[in-house]
Amino acid sequence: NRTIAATRFFSIMADLKVDLTAPNGRTFTLPTGLFISNEFVKATAGATITSINPTNEQEICKVQAAGPEDIDKAVAAARAALHDEAWRDISGSDRGKLMFKFADLVEQHQEVLATIETWDNGKPYSDSLGDVEEVLNCIRYYAGWADKIHGETIPTTPLKLVYTLKQPVGVCAQIIPWNYPLAMAAWKLGPALACGNTVVLKPAEQTPLSILYLATLIPKAGFPPGVVNITNGYGRDAGQALASHLDIDKIAFTGSTVTGKQIMKTASVNMKNITLETGGKSPLLVFEDADLEQASKWAHVGIMSNQGQICTATSRILVQESIYDKFVERLREVIKTTSKVGDPFVEGTFQGPQVTKAQYDRVLSFVESGKSEGATLSGGGKPCPLNGKGFFIEPTIFTNVKDNMKIYREEVFGPFVVVASFKTEKDAIRMANDTTYGLGAAVFSQNIELAHRVAAHIESGMVWINSSNDSDYRVPFGGVKQSGIGRELGEAGLAAYTSTKSVHVNIGQKL
Ligand code: NAD
Repeated sequence: NRTIAATRFFSIMADLKVDLTAPNGRTFTLPTGLFISNEFVKATAGATITSINPTNEQEICKVQAAGPEDIDKAVAAARAALHDEAWRDISGSDRGKLMFKFADLVEQHQEVLATIETWDNGKPYSDSLGDVEEVLNCIRYYAGWADKIHGETIPTTPLKLVYTLKQPVGVCAQIIPWNYPLAMAAWKLGPALACGNTVVLKPAEQTPLSILYLATLIPKAGFPPGVVNITNGYGRDAGQALASHLDIDKIAFTGSTVTGKQIMKTASVNMKNITLETGGKSPLLVFEDADLEQASKWAHVGIMSNQGQICTATSRILVQESIYDKFVERLREVIKTTSKVGDPFVEGTFQGPQVTKAQYDRVLSFVESGKSEGATLSGGGKPCPLNGKGFFIEPTIFTNVKDNMKIYREEVFGPFVVVASFKTEKDAIRMANDTTYGLGAAVFSQNIELAHRVAAHIESGMVWINSSNDSDYRVPFGGVKQSGIGRELGEAGLAAYTSTKSVHVNIGQKL
């Protein structure tokens, strides 16, 4: 019997990894299991996710997909780790050391990680390397915080000593999207681990691969079993099971506004602490005194980078009437000369394919909507496959867009920009704020008074003045209105992962 059990174990383990050769020739072994308690395991019900290369529509491999039973196991592992002295009682400095070690390992493996990211997601290889750098920066930044998270003493009366403790929130579920799989994982893991929490992280089903390779580095860095658990799975199964789980204390989500609202409802079952980072239709305002050359280049970066799949994409450009035609001409020129669409592994490619057929179809349906509603298609709008395959779409620009059009109001999440006009500063602010979203915004003007005034009046979590989307891991990131709740990154990102306990000490009051 022991022999049978051992044979079965080794055959399962053999099933749970795959040797792969990426399109750039790099070879590596990828685990395909669920990562629970520092081990890769099979999904109980045997469900899998098939990962598709969006460049040629071919299968890369299959990975295990968690169901509710697997989520139960991962949550139990995270709960046990939270109470285990190996994690509970280590100093902040030692937590920081584990995180620094983890970052060093990520750095050593950065080319493989970037290769997997580009293969699975379709983003240009140079962008994937940039994403891995973001992982390093973010993990190291929060590693530095790990021994600087402390409470305060609060003077009250002479007979009382009051101090606060900053404690971990507990077991945290983290649900992330497919547009920046590695970077989003780091944004979530960094602050959670620095503050001493344990985690069950669910990647998006569209991009399950790079995080599995990242998971192999967690035990190597020395994290005790159960501190980080990674459960690939579908939103409706694994995601829903996390949101409704009674033994999860906090849920952090990045993704669509519709799913964010659903999670909020489900998470109310045990009043989970929540942070949400959801959609946007972020405006970019160009005033007539702006440096048009710079404004058009930043506008291009702000919407066309990462195939337009950026929650803070400045996808709604508002230009002062007097310079409208000139700006549109400049922007079209920048798109033409810079937005090279093609194989994401080829150097010089600016734009790869959309992540999935669903996203590709979605973007093309917005092109049809724009045309039927009477906006002017001023560039792009068509598929541009590579050897007849792949989810490639030309960078698309619609002009003469009116504020009642669907393409003006809804998030497209693709290389798709709309350009409308405004007359006055007041007009510009009103139009910028005429949206249910409030994530990012950009203002272009050389008049510092105007720029700061407009920045103050825009309803959004972030404003860039004379740039777009140059976010930074040291700076708070998040939205207002239906773009989210809470902040990630920077010192503000710690607040989401600590719970304040007040301790009242009687130092002499007698009854
Ligand atoms: P989504 O919000 O449905 O998925 C994001 C994550 O949530 C994934 O991990 C998914 O598995 C999970 N999820 C889905 N349903 C869930 C549920 N009921 N409970 C718990 N978790 C659940 O997004 P999508 O369907 O991949 O993309 C649709 C649109 O969302 C895009 O076109 C885009 O507009 C937007 N989006 C925004 C971001 C962002 O960064 N803000 C990222 C991805 C997608």
